[in-house]
Amino acid sequence: MTETKILVTGGAGYIGSHTCLALAAKGYVPVVYDNFSSGHREFVKWGPAEEGDIRDRARLREVLAQHKPAAVLHFAGLIEVGQSFKEPEAFYDINVGGSLALLQAMMEADIRAFVFSSTCATYGTPTYMPLDESHPQAPINPYGRTKHIVEQALRDFDLCDRMRSVMLRYFNAAGADAEGRIGEWHTPETHAVPLLIEAALGRRAGFSIFGDDYETRDGTCIRDYVHVTDLADAHVRAVEYLLNGGETVAINLGTGTGTSVQELISAVETVSGRPLPVTRAERRAGDPPLLVASNETARTILGWEPEHEIDDIIRSAWTWHSRFNGYS
Ligand code: UDP
Repeated sequence: MTETKILVTGGAGYIGSHTCLALAAKGYVPVVYDNFSSGHREFVKWGPAEEGDIRDRARLREVLAQHKPAAVLHFAGLIEVGQSFKEPEAFYDINVGGSLALLQAMMEADIRAFVFSSTCATYGTPTYMPLDESHPQAPINPYGRTKHIVEQALRDFDLCDRMRSVMLRYFNAAGADAEGRIGEWHTPETHAVPLLIEAALGRRAGFSIFGDDYETRDGTCIRDYVHVTDLADAHVRAVEYLLNGGETVAINLGTGTGTSVQELISAVETVSGRPLPVTRAERRAGDPPLLVASNETARTILGWEPEHEIDDIIRSAWTWHSRFNGYS
Protein backbone atom coordinates (compact mmCIF):
# COMPACT_ATOMS: atom_id res chain seq x y z
CA MET A 1 0.00 0.00 0.00
CA THR A 2 1.38 3.40 -0.92
CA GLU A 3 1.42 6.03 1.76
CA THR A 4 -0.93 8.98 1.46
CA LYS A 5 0.90 12.28 1.29
CA ILE A 6 -0.59 15.52 2.56
CA LEU A 7 1.00 18.85 1.62
CA VAL A 8 1.30 21.16 4.63
CA THR A 9 2.13 24.76 3.76
CA GLY A 10 3.61 26.54 6.74
CA GLY A 11 4.32 23.09 8.18
CA ALA A 12 7.42 24.43 9.95
CA GLY A 13 5.31 26.87 11.97
CA TYR A 14 3.49 26.48 15.25
CA ILE A 15 0.12 24.88 14.40
CA GLY A 16 1.48 23.43 11.14
CA SER A 17 4.25 21.44 12.82
CA HIS A 18 1.90 20.04 15.47
CA THR A 19 -0.42 18.98 12.66
CA CYS A 20 2.46 17.22 10.87
CA LEU A 21 3.08 15.28 14.06
CA ALA A 22 -0.61 14.30 14.26
CA LEU A 23 -0.74 13.34 10.56
CA ALA A 24 2.33 11.11 10.89
CA ALA A 25 0.80 9.45 13.98
CA LYS A 26 -2.17 8.49 11.78
CA GLY A 27 0.06 7.03 9.04
CA TYR A 28 0.06 9.97 6.59
CA VAL A 29 3.22 11.50 5.18
CA PRO A 30 3.23 15.25 5.80
CA VAL A 31 5.18 17.11 3.13
CA VAL A 32 6.13 20.52 4.48
CA TYR A 33 6.12 23.47 2.08
CA ASP A 34 7.65 26.48 3.82
CA ASN A 35 9.91 29.42 2.99
CA PHE A 36 11.30 29.35 6.55
CA SER A 37 10.77 33.09 6.97
CA SER A 38 9.12 32.43 10.31
CA GLY A 39 8.97 28.62 10.36
CA HIS A 40 11.77 26.57 11.90
CA ARG A 41 13.76 23.87 10.11
CA GLU A 42 14.07 22.15 13.50
CA PHE A 43 10.29 21.60 13.47
CA VAL A 44 10.30 19.50 10.29
CA LYS A 45 10.59 16.02 11.78
CA TRP A 46 7.83 13.87 10.36
CA GLY A 47 8.26 14.07 6.60
CA PRO A 48 10.15 15.79 3.81
CA ALA A 49 10.61 19.56 3.56
CA GLU A 50 10.24 21.48 0.32
CA GLU A 51 11.47 25.05 0.49
CA GLY A 52 9.36 27.54 -1.40
CA ASP A 53 7.31 30.70 -1.22
CA ILE A 54 3.53 30.46 -1.15
CA ARG A 55 3.31 33.01 -4.01
CA ASP A 56 5.65 31.01 -6.26
CA ARG A 57 3.28 29.21 -8.64
CA ALA A 58 6.05 27.46 -10.57
CA ARG A 59 7.55 26.01 -7.40
CA LEU A 60 4.11 25.00 -6.13
CA ARG A 61 3.35 23.21 -9.43
CA GLU A 62 6.68 21.39 -9.20
CA VAL A 63 6.12 20.22 -5.61
CA LEU A 64 2.53 19.13 -6.28
CA ALA A 65 3.64 17.18 -9.36
CA GLN A 66 6.46 15.52 -7.46
CA HIS A 67 4.51 14.46 -4.34
CA LYS A 68 0.94 14.17 -5.65
CA PRO A 69 -0.65 14.90 -2.27
CA ALA A 70 -4.24 13.75 -1.67
CA ALA A 71 -5.05 17.03 0.09
CA VAL A 72 -3.46 20.32 1.09
CA LEU A 73 -3.46 21.94 4.52
CA HIS A 74 -2.74 25.64 4.16
CA PHE A 75 -1.18 27.27 7.24
CA ALA A 76 1.36 29.55 5.54
CA GLY A 77 0.64 33.23 6.00
CA LEU A 78 0.99 36.30 8.15
CA ILE A 79 -0.84 36.10 11.48
CA GLU A 80 -0.30 39.16 13.58
CA VAL A 81 -3.12 41.67 13.83
CA GLY A 82 -0.84 44.58 14.85
CA GLN A 83 1.47 43.98 11.88
CA SER A 84 -1.55 43.87 9.55
CA PHE A 85 -2.24 47.56 10.26
CA LYS A 86 1.40 48.46 9.55
CA GLU A 87 1.87 46.31 6.44
CA PRO A 88 -1.55 45.62 4.90
CA GLU A 89 0.06 45.21 1.45
CA ALA A 90 2.08 42.24 2.69
CA PHE A 91 -1.07 40.63 4.15
CA TYR A 92 -2.90 40.96 0.83
CA ASP A 93 0.13 39.72 -1.10
CA ILE A 94 0.86 36.68 1.07
CA ASN A 95 -2.49 35.76 2.61
CA VAL A 96 -4.72 36.50 -0.38
CA GLY A 97 -2.28 36.30 -3.32
CA GLY A 98 -0.43 33.31 -1.84
CA SER A 99 -3.64 31.37 -1.16
CA LEU A 100 -4.88 32.01 -4.71
CA ALA A 101 -1.55 30.92 -6.20
CA LEU A 102 -1.74 27.71 -4.19
CA LEU A 103 -5.38 27.05 -5.10
CA GLN A 104 -4.69 27.61 -8.78
CA ALA A 105 -1.71 25.25 -8.72
CA MET A 106 -3.86 22.66 -6.93
CA MET A 107 -6.69 22.92 -9.45
CA GLU A 108 -4.21 22.55 -12.34
CA ALA A 109 -2.89 19.42 -10.63
CA ASP A 110 -6.45 18.15 -10.07
CA ILE A 111 -6.09 18.17 -6.26
CA ARG A 112 -9.43 19.19 -4.83
CA ALA A 113 -9.33 18.88 -1.05
CA PHE A 114 -8.25 21.95 0.91
CA VAL A 115 -8.08 22.69 4.63
CA PHE A 116 -7.71 26.39 5.33
CA SER A 117 -6.35 28.08 8.47
CA SER A 118 -8.95 30.74 9.12
CA THR A 119 -9.71 32.64 12.27
CA CYS A 120 -12.38 33.93 14.63
CA ALA A 121 -11.03 37.37 13.60
CA THR A 122 -13.23 37.00 10.49
CA TYR A 123 -16.28 37.63 12.73
CA GLY A 124 -15.17 41.09 13.85
CA THR A 125 -16.96 42.53 16.88
CA PRO A 126 -19.27 39.86 18.27
CA THR A 127 -22.97 40.63 18.57
CA TYR A 128 -23.73 37.48 20.57
CA MET A 129 -21.84 34.80 22.47
CA PRO A 130 -20.79 32.03 22.13
CA LEU A 131 -19.83 32.61 18.51
CA ASP A 132 -21.20 30.08 16.08
CA GLU A 133 -20.38 29.79 12.39
CA SER A 134 -23.48 31.69 11.27
CA HIS A 135 -22.45 34.82 13.17
CA PRO A 136 -22.02 37.62 10.56
CA GLN A 137 -18.47 38.03 9.32
CA ALA A 138 -17.34 41.65 9.47
CA PRO A 139 -13.60 41.74 10.20
CA ILE A 140 -12.23 44.83 11.92
CA ASN A 141 -8.57 44.44 10.91
CA PRO A 142 -6.68 43.67 7.67
CA TYR A 143 -5.57 40.27 9.02
CA GLY A 144 -9.16 39.11 9.53
CA ARG A 145 -10.26 40.59 6.22
CA THR A 146 -7.58 38.76 4.20
CA LYS A 147 -8.71 35.47 5.77
CA HIS A 148 -12.35 36.32 5.08
CA ILE A 149 -11.57 37.09 1.42
CA VAL A 150 -9.97 33.67 0.98
CA GLU A 151 -13.01 32.05 2.63
CA GLN A 152 -15.22 33.80 0.07
CA ALA A 153 -13.01 32.61 -2.80
CA LEU A 154 -13.30 29.07 -1.42
CA ARG A 155 -17.11 29.37 -1.47
CA ASP A 156 -16.94 30.32 -5.16
CA PHE A 157 -14.54 27.49 -6.00
CA ASP A 158 -16.96 25.15 -4.28
CA LEU A 159 -19.94 26.61 -6.14
CA CYS A 160 -18.15 25.98 -9.44
CA ASP A 161 -17.08 22.44 -8.47
CA ARG A 162 -13.39 23.31 -8.43
CA MET A 163 -12.49 22.64 -4.81
CA ARG A 164 -13.94 21.29 -1.58
CA SER A 165 -12.68 23.00 1.57
CA VAL A 166 -12.83 22.93 5.32
CA MET A 167 -12.30 26.44 6.69
CA LEU A 168 -11.13 26.12 10.27
CA ARG A 169 -11.71 29.26 12.32
CA TYR A 170 -9.26 29.14 15.19
CA PHE A 171 -9.81 30.75 18.54
CA ASN A 172 -6.68 31.11 20.76
CA ALA A 173 -4.16 28.38 19.97
CA ALA A 174 -1.83 27.67 22.89
CA GLY A 175 0.27 24.96 24.53
CA ALA A 176 2.73 22.52 23.00
CA ASP A 177 3.41 18.87 22.25
CA ALA A 178 3.31 17.10 25.64
CA GLU A 179 6.73 15.56 24.99
CA GLY A 180 8.24 18.98 24.35
CA ARG A 181 9.53 18.13 20.85
CA ILE A 182 7.98 21.24 19.32
CA GLY A 183 6.17 24.27 20.72
CA GLU A 184 5.33 27.93 20.31
CA TRP A 185 8.23 29.96 18.93
CA HIS A 186 7.35 33.30 17.38
CA THR A 187 9.75 36.18 16.88
CA PRO A 188 8.73 38.63 18.19
CA GLU A 189 6.36 36.94 20.65
CA THR A 190 3.09 38.77 21.28
CA HIS A 191 0.82 35.98 22.62
CA ALA A 192 -0.25 35.90 26.24
CA VAL A 193 0.60 32.28 27.13
CA PRO A 194 4.26 32.21 25.97
CA LEU A 195 4.83 35.72 27.36
CA LEU A 196 3.54 34.59 30.77
CA ILE A 197 5.65 31.43 30.77
CA GLU A 198 8.77 33.37 29.83
CA ALA A 199 8.08 35.84 32.60
CA ALA A 200 7.71 32.94 35.07
CA LEU A 201 11.03 31.54 33.81
CA GLY A 202 12.67 34.88 34.48
CA ARG A 203 13.39 35.48 30.80
CA ARG A 204 11.18 38.55 30.76
CA ALA A 205 10.91 41.24 33.41
CA GLY A 206 7.20 40.60 33.92
CA PHE A 207 3.82 40.58 32.26
CA SER A 208 1.50 43.49 31.43
CA ILE A 209 -2.25 43.03 31.59
CA PHE A 210 -3.79 44.94 28.70
CA GLY A 211 -6.77 46.42 30.50
CA ASP A 212 -8.39 45.33 33.76
CA ASP A 213 -11.55 47.42 33.56
CA TYR A 214 -13.53 45.39 31.05
CA GLU A 215 -17.04 44.27 31.87
CA THR A 216 -16.02 40.69 32.56
CA ARG A 217 -16.00 38.61 35.75
CA ASP A 218 -12.62 39.97 36.89
CA GLY A 219 -12.19 42.96 34.57
CA THR A 220 -9.70 41.27 32.22
CA CYS A 221 -10.35 39.94 28.69
CA ILE A 222 -11.72 36.45 28.25
CA ARG A 223 -10.54 34.17 25.45
CA ASP A 224 -11.13 30.57 24.40
CA TYR A 225 -7.68 28.91 24.61
CA VAL A 226 -7.50 25.67 22.68
CA HIS A 227 -4.63 23.21 22.99
CA VAL A 228 -2.52 23.05 19.83
CA THR A 229 -2.59 19.23 20.03
CA ASP A 230 -6.41 19.35 19.92
CA LEU A 231 -6.21 21.75 16.98
CA ALA A 232 -3.84 19.36 15.20
CA ASP A 233 -6.30 16.51 15.76
CA ALA A 234 -9.10 18.60 14.22
CA HIS A 235 -6.97 19.12 11.10
CA VAL A 236 -6.42 15.40 10.63
CA ARG A 237 -10.18 14.91 11.00
CA ALA A 238 -10.83 17.67 8.46
CA VAL A 239 -8.53 15.96 5.93
CA GLU A 240 -10.27 12.64 6.45
CA TYR A 241 -13.69 14.29 6.15
CA LEU A 242 -12.71 15.71 2.74
CA LEU A 243 -11.07 12.48 1.56
CA ASN A 244 -14.33 10.71 2.43
CA GLY A 245 -16.25 13.11 0.17
CA GLY A 246 -17.31 15.75 2.74
CA GLU A 247 -18.75 19.04 1.51
CA THR A 248 -17.31 22.52 1.92
CA VAL A 249 -17.86 23.81 5.44
CA ALA A 250 -16.64 26.42 7.94
CA ILE A 251 -15.91 25.15 11.44
CA ASN A 252 -14.99 26.95 14.67
CA LEU A 253 -12.20 25.41 16.70
CA GLY A 254 -12.55 26.40 20.33
CA THR A 255 -13.39 24.67 23.60
CA GLY A 256 -16.52 26.63 24.47
CA THR A 257 -14.86 27.71 27.73
CA GLY A 258 -13.45 31.13 28.41
CA THR A 259 -10.39 31.97 30.51
CA SER A 260 -9.59 35.52 31.64
CA VAL A 261 -6.10 37.00 31.55
CA GLN A 262 -6.18 37.04 35.36
CA GLU A 263 -7.08 33.32 35.42
CA LEU A 264 -4.23 32.61 32.99
CA ILE A 265 -1.82 34.36 35.32
CA SER A 266 -3.04 32.28 38.29
CA ALA A 267 -2.70 29.07 36.26
CA VAL A 268 0.89 29.93 35.30
CA GLU A 269 1.73 30.79 38.91
CA THR A 270 0.34 27.43 40.04
CA VAL A 271 2.17 25.37 37.41
CA SER A 272 5.47 27.23 37.84
CA GLY A 273 5.18 27.56 41.62
CA ARG A 274 6.42 31.14 41.24
CA PRO A 275 4.65 34.46 41.72
CA LEU A 276 4.64 36.57 38.57
CA PRO A 277 5.59 40.22 38.41
CA VAL A 278 2.45 41.69 36.86
CA THR A 279 1.72 45.27 35.86
CA ARG A 280 -1.44 46.87 34.55
CA ALA A 281 -1.30 48.52 31.16
CA GLU A 282 -3.73 50.31 28.86
CA ARG A 283 -6.25 48.34 26.85
CA ARG A 284 -4.88 47.06 23.55
CA ALA A 285 -6.68 48.53 20.52
CA GLY A 286 -9.18 46.21 18.92
CA ASP A 287 -9.42 43.70 21.80
CA PRO A 288 -13.01 42.50 22.30
CA PRO A 289 -13.73 41.78 26.00
CA LEU A 290 -15.08 38.28 25.39
CA LEU A 291 -14.47 35.69 22.65
CA VAL A 292 -15.72 32.16 23.17
CA ALA A 293 -16.58 29.59 20.51
CA SER A 294 -19.57 27.41 20.03
CA ASN A 295 -17.98 24.15 18.86
CA GLU A 296 -21.15 22.23 18.04
CA THR A 297 -20.27 22.04 14.33
CA ALA A 298 -16.82 20.61 15.04
CA ARG A 299 -18.42 17.97 17.25
CA THR A 300 -21.12 17.08 14.74
CA ILE A 301 -19.15 17.15 11.51
CA LEU A 302 -15.67 16.12 12.63
CA GLY A 303 -16.54 14.21 15.80
CA TRP A 304 -14.00 16.51 17.44
CA GLU A 305 -13.88 16.82 21.19
CA PRO A 306 -11.14 18.99 22.72
CA GLU A 307 -9.35 16.83 25.29
CA HIS A 308 -7.23 19.41 27.06
CA GLU A 309 -8.10 22.13 29.52
CA ILE A 310 -6.26 25.29 30.40
CA ASP A 311 -4.02 23.59 32.99
CA ASP A 312 -2.81 21.07 30.37
CA ILE A 313 -2.13 23.97 28.03
CA ILE A 314 -0.04 25.77 30.62
CA ARG A 315 1.81 22.62 31.72
CA SER A 316 2.74 21.66 28.15
CA ALA A 317 3.85 25.20 27.36
CA TRP A 318 5.91 25.21 30.55
CA THR A 319 7.61 21.92 29.52
CA TRP A 320 8.44 23.28 26.09
CA HIS A 321 9.73 26.68 27.20
CA SER A 322 11.73 25.19 30.08
CA ARG A 323 13.63 23.01 27.64
CA PHE A 324 13.84 25.44 24.83
CA ASN A 325 15.29 28.91 24.85
CA GLY A 326 15.41 29.88 21.20
CA TYR A 327 14.68 33.49 21.96
CA SER A 328 17.91 34.39 23.66
N1 UDP B 1 -2.71 40.08 26.67
C1 UDP B 1 -2.24 40.78 27.76
N2 UDP B 1 -0.90 41.07 27.82
C2 UDP B 1 0.00 40.68 26.86
C3 UDP B 1 -0.50 39.94 25.75
C4 UDP B 1 -1.85 39.66 25.69
O1 UDP B 1 -2.99 41.17 28.66
O2 UDP B 1 1.19 40.98 26.97
C5 UDP B 1 -4.14 39.76 26.60
C6 UDP B 1 -4.81 40.32 25.35
O3 UDP B 1 -5.28 41.62 25.58
C7 UDP B 1 -5.94 39.33 25.13
C8 UDP B 1 -5.38 38.02 25.69
O4 UDP B 1 -4.28 38.37 26.51
O5 UDP B 1 -7.07 39.69 25.89
C9 UDP B 1 -4.92 37.08 24.59
O6 UDP B 1 -4.04 37.81 23.74
P1 UDP B 1 -3.20 37.11 22.59
O7 UDP B 1 -2.36 38.18 21.93
O8 UDP B 1 -2.51 35.92 23.14
O9 UDP B 1 -4.32 36.56 21.60
P2 UDP B 1 -5.50 37.30 20.80
O10 UDP B 1 -6.73 37.10 21.63
O11 UDP B 1 -5.14 38.72 20.60
O12 UDP B 1 -5.57 36.54 19.52
